[in-house]
Amino acid sequence: MELRLPAQADIIEVGLRDGLQSEPTIIPTATKLTLIRQLIAAGVRHIQVASFVNPRRVPQMADAEALCAELPSAPGVIFSGLALNVRGVERAGAAGLRQVDIGISASDTHSRKNAGLSLAAALEQVAAMVSAARACGLTVRAGVQCAFGCVYEGMIPLDRVVRIVEHLLTLGINELALADSTGMANPRQMADMLDAVLPRAQVPVTLHLHDTRGMGLTNVLVALQYGVTRFDAAFGGLGGCPFIAGATGNIATEDTVNMLEQVGVATGIDWRKVAECSRLISACLARELPGKLYRLQALPSGHMH
Ligand code: ZN
Repeated sequence: MELRLPAQADIIEVGLRDGLQSEPTIIPTATKLTLIRQLIAAGVRHIQVASFVNPRRVPQMADAEALCAELPSAPGVIFSGLALNVRGVERAGAAGLRQVDIGISASDTHSRKNAGLSLAAALEQVAAMVSAARACGLTVRAGVQCAFGCVYEGMIPLDRVVRIVEHLLTLGINELALADSTGMANPRQMADMLDAVLPRAQVPVTLHLHDTRGMGLTNVLVALQYGVTRFDAAFGGLGGCPFIAGATGNIATEDTVNMLEQVGVATGIDWRKVAECSRLISACLARELPGKLYRLQALPSGHMH
């Protein structure tokens, strides 16, 4: 079999948001800014910096506005923020971001726990969120969370995901994200999902993958062969939704970049510099992270055995 791979792929760094949101140790804003500067220096060109959610529910994100006020000026770098409701979208706009990431869960149970809304109510709300984003001059990335399965509901029927995707596309979103929030996707399921969704999507499609069951990078490799070139990742493999029992980290940015570069897919990112961020946050959290490469000392290329 021949690997059919794109020449280039984009990594969206979500470690500051998805990565940190469920960490009980509050990371100071200054440390987050240090990480952001280091990620930019590593070549990262898109960073999801915060979520605009209720700080009582997600205390780690209470500094969203303060963080956005201090973001470095970095030409060509996109900073985005996550919102779960209209108020969150308006906060993202007021904070000066250019893009808001909104989400809707394909799982009714997860939607109630994460956003306090049934799936039906969330579908109604998402239209209002897109309108609010337009009014704020924000581009919109809309994601389908738990698209590949839910710890509460099990498998999510593919036709339900397709219906949600079609609904989002009618709203005029700029980008679609399919999220394996629970890390339940397998390579076969990934192929079936992309077969169903990609022909319908008239906008760029990003994959948001968690490595809960160790299949994250395998799923990336399958998606690459379908022509997907946009992937969320978190340095160190940080991450996990506070409202998904047993959720673990996103695919690790440095591990993903290393795999992509080794198979000839350019990312423009130096994984060794990303790994420095992972070591920094590992020290702040006083624990090891799920990522692999950050544990290796920074070695010059060609010296790894
Ligand atoms: Zn996630």
